Amino acid sequence: MRNISEKSTMPDNEEIACISFNDNREISITEQKINCPGENQVLVRMKACGICKYDIKCYKDSGTDPAYSAKPGHEGVGIVEAVGINVKDIKPGEKVTSDSFGGAFADYFVADLDTVVKIPEDVEEYEFWVAEPVACVVSSLRYLRIEPGDDVVVIGCGYMGLLIIQGLPKDFIHNLTAIDIDDNRLSMAKKFGANRIVNSRDEDAVQAVLDISKNKVDVVIEAVGAKGVIKQATGMLKNGARLCIFGHHAEDEVIPTGDWHMKGLQVLNTTPYMSKNFHKDLIDAVKLMEKGVFDQSELISHTYSFTDIKRAMEEVAENPSDLIKAVVTNYRDKLSFG
Ligand SMILES: [Zn+2]
Repeated sequence: MRNISEKSTMPDNEEIACISFNDNREISITEQKINCPGENQVLVRMKACGICKYDIKCYKDSGTDPAYSAKPGHEGVGIVEAVGINVKDIKPGEKVTSDSFGGAFADYFVADLDTVVKIPEDVEEYEFWVAEPVACVVSSLRYLRIEPGDDVVVIGCGYMGLLIIQGLPKDFIHNLTAIDIDDNRLSMAKKFGANRIVNSRDEDAVQAVLDISKNKVDVVIEAVGAKGVIKQATGMLKNGARLCIFGHHAEDEVIPTGDWHMKGLQVLNTTPYMSKNFHKDLIDAVKLMEKGVFDQSELISHTYSFTDIKRAMEEVAENPSDLIKAVVTNYRDKLSFG
């Protein structure tokens, strides 16, 4: 095998299983030769990979992103099997989390060095170390600049909203209000540090926030992505305040630009694509996971075996209310696909 300076138990000339999403919600599993890691690359034996909303979108319609659908999976965690030349800082046997875009729904995949970060050696529950979504939150919080005494609202307590609540600096936020329509998620938000919760199915969210804050608030983080939520968030904000659009708004909508102007709002569209250095975001995400600031042990609600990925995709696509985050685990130990 060329280009490999060090290797451990990497199976030479073995075939590995790779998933791809086809039309009509079909998944194909192809057997491919393992690629050698090139210069500044590592070969990772997969142990876990998060299922992202983007995976579901591509699973439902592979035409959304044909290149990604051919090699899906971007929230991988695994063990380094082999490293390419020039790779000094990571050795075979070390455990890593990755944000490499595509390819992690496979037994093994080759990742560029700047898409992997080491995780603690004693990790055994790999699903808790999916870090790409945490890096998205870190990137967003970095740009949000929460200030001491701010009143902050998080709309949406799904997986990402709850991660945001974990990561916010609660000690110097005045009021942290979480809004959702699901009481279980709201009680998780409370557990992770929200000191006020509002069920927007039972009461008017804008009025509830105004009642809590006695005034309007300094920051609203919108982590839903549904139509109408940006307007709702705008109604909660005081002049000069910050509106953070974190949710993915797949459908275009009319937004209240008039109010934005008259309130002088700072509107931040914090997608990971705004990050100047996403690798640093991933490094910082892992640091904060090690410290326990981000703790996914209660957020990973569903795990599925790699061989059961079709069922995983179908169930996640249905979006049941008890599903916070699903992760594919139990990748094949031996190279036969049942
Ligand atoms: Zn993702």
